[in-house]
Amino acid sequence: MTIIPHAMVGAALGRLFFRKRYLAFLAGITSHILLDAVPHWDYLTVKAGTINTALAVTGIAFFALRFKDPYLFWGGAGAMIPDIEVAAKALGLSNYPLYFPTHSGAIPHVQVSPWWGIPVQVLLSLACILLIFKNEKLGLARKRTKSQSALLR
Ligand SMILES: [Zn+2]
Repeated sequence: MTIIPHAMVGAALGRLFFRKRYLAFLAGITSHILLDAVPHWDYLTVKAGTINTALAVTGIAFFALRFKDPYLFWGGAGAMIPDIEVAAKALGLSNYPLYFPTHSGAIPHVQVSPWWGIPVQVLLSLACILLIFKNEKLGLARKRTKSQSALLR
């Protein structure tokens, strides 16, 4: 799957469910496997990958700072990190084989047409962004100690 839905799903998981950074990070990595296992569309150019990665990183940084939420950040980071090997290969920086199970072929990575592959990923990303915001609006955001909130200030 493309990097923005990966990042947003990881961020939403971190924000909604976790109080430990490493657990949010592991949930992000796990979500990467699950999303890649769903038949999807992937962009095929380095330019598209670069633009999408810039948007995803900016989005995660913005939300983490906006909500002072380190778990959101680590969830998003965990969800994006597996694609570093794909990016390194696309940029010609790596000759190593791909190791991550959905990239190596150990878990099938089925491609579909962009005609439904793109709308599904846009809707998934928007739904996660909505959850990230709604979590605050409903007052469900985890209560934090002052020292935890201070970490992202
Ligand atoms: Zn991937």
